[in-house]
Amino acid sequence: MRATQFHIGTQKEAPTDAEIASHKLMTRAGMIRKHAGGIYSYLPLGLRVVRKVEKIIREEMDAAGGMEVSMPVIQPAELWQETGRWDKFGPELMRIKDRHNRDFVVQPTSEEVVTDIARNEIHSWRQLPKNFYQIQTKFRDERRPRFGIMRGREFTMKDAYSFDRDEEGAKKSYEGMYAAYTRIFTRMGLAFRAVKADTGAIGGSLSHEFQVIADTGEDLLVYNPQSDYAANIELAEAVSLIETRGAASEPLAKTPTPGAARCEDVAALLKIDLTRTVKSLVLATEPEKEGQPAQIWLLLIRGDHELNEIKAGKVEGLNKGFRFATEAEIVEHFGTLPGYLGPIGTAKPVKLVVDRTVANMSDFVAGANEADFHHTGVNWGRDLPEPTVIADLRNVVVGDPSPDGKGTLAIQRGIEVGHVFFLGAGYSTSMKATFLDQTGKPAPLQMGCYGIGVTRVMGAAIEQNHDGRGIIWPRALAPFEVVICGVGWGKSELVRDAATKLYEELKAKGVDVILDDRDERPGVMFAEWELIGVPVRVTIGDRGLKDGLIEVQGRRDDGAEKVPAAEALDKAL
Ligand code: ATP
Ligand code: MG
Ligand code: MG
Ligand code: MG
Repeated sequence: MRATQFHIGTQKEAPTDAEIASHKLMTRAGMIRKHAGGIYSYLPLGLRVVRKVEKIIREEMDAAGGMEVSMPVIQPAELWQETGRWDKFGPELMRIKDRHNRDFVVQPTSEEVVTDIARNEIHSWRQLPKNFYQIQTKFRDERRPRFGIMRGREFTMKDAYSFDRDEEGAKKSYEGMYAAYTRIFTRMGLAFRAVKADTGAIGGSLSHEFQVIADTGEDLLVYNPQSDYAANIELAEAVSLIETRGAASEPLAKTPTPGAARCEDVAALLKIDLTRTVKSLVLATEPEKEGQPAQIWLLLIRGDHELNEIKAGKVEGLNKGFRFATEAEIVEHFGTLPGYLGPIGTAKPVKLVVDRTVANMSDFVAGANEADFHHTGVNWGRDLPEPTVIADLRNVVVGDPSPDGKGTLAIQRGIEVGHVFFLGAGYSTSMKATFLDQTGKPAPLQMGCYGIGVTRVMGAAIEQNHDGRGIIWPRALAPFEVVICGVGWGKSELVRDAATKLYEELKAKGVDVILDDRDERPGVMFAEWELIGVPVRVTIGDRGLKDGLIEVQGRRDDGAEKVPAAEALDKAL
């Protein structure tokens, strides 16, 4: 590629809504352009990176036995009604109508469609296992799209789905995908960690997230540097506080009563770090019922969680009739948010008793959890057994003993780039996707789902690899691996010849190289390629050529190395 024939759209200014480096740099480097919240175009430079991400994923998915398919972006509501997700998904699911007033969804993920395929295609145990994947546009109407393409509304996801005869087979498929993901992110040159995702309330289910380590990540990873133990602290925390006298259905107290606990105090009592994990607070009240005292639930929720969705979602484990106090109510009755946690639901003083930390509310996998919720779900119930390890992790601090007994814990932030999830037979049962097993009896397909945020990977790679001058692409993801800058291009035939020769040689070696033939000043060219983040720059000018020398500089190097022209090729490889 020659720069004169390519579109280079670098900009001086970062967008005003850009909070993190990757968003700023991707825009400034001319890789993405925004049209609406969470909706972007990829310019040629950006799309080259997306294609590299996809290529690595495709190769590893194929090597692991996956078969690529393409499922519709617009999917009929009927399939989503079969699994119940039409109702359960909440506002993140984009619903549309056609001209005949029929309902459709824009796929946020594709369990329904792939299960529909499987029930039509797979009839016998002899056809199993199978793994279908696609790399496709997804749409999630995120409440707060942000960080550029990292939390977009339209984005590209690789989603794979495995089908097996039995649980044992499904676990093998899961392990195969886990291993493939490890290879994928290793090849991409990313520092990542596979962590146990929260399955506390799902019980026995298997789920891991692949997290790219970065300070700007939205997740908190707890890990043990002395072993391979690692887990994600979930985004939200639910705490049951409780035992009240008086009915919660009575009006909420108007003003904080003297002696009422402040949110901060409760947090201290529960050892919850408000600054670390909690951005907002929701109260739920549940009236007295069948001899049970009224219940008041305090949910501490990290900022990116969707209050509306939680309200819309069905909540397991709570008696019917509960409702969430609205934010407005909380503000009205307790002054601020978070603010006073007063004697709720009664005029009489209320003893707030910390029952136990019971619950977990999680974001979900490219797919689902046990209850078929996707992101909107609240896995939550005080009927859970004793707090699980994961529940304990919510309040962990650096240096706490590791649950595996092998040392102490550390914490770091991460960006979820991939998620593997063992689904079991939930979808296949509700959609009647069965096969005939070895005894000739129909059995439900055992499933797993496996997502990678293709476009998010791009942002995560930049979060991990940049400096004051711009992006520093890992070579495997770079839009171009090498740039050749011809200094004095217009004036010097010597430069043009030497640069073109090296360019052709690199191309012949299969290197993704761009020849900067724009006749720009060196300072301008260098700044631009450093912003774009090309890993290797070769500079060819008259002055060096006089001595038979060419300059080669790695993007992380402090200065250029002058090498004999004949060695430049090897240096740039
Ligand atoms: P998050 O917790 O960040 O909301 P998720 O758990 O809802 O993500 P999954 O359903 O597990 O996402 O989807 C699989 C992958 O798709 C995620 O691991 C992530 O890399 C990517 N992804 C999810 N939501 C988005 C988004 N809004 N923009 C870009 N990538 C996304
Ligand atoms: Mg998640
Ligand atoms: Mg997930
Ligand atoms: Mg999500």
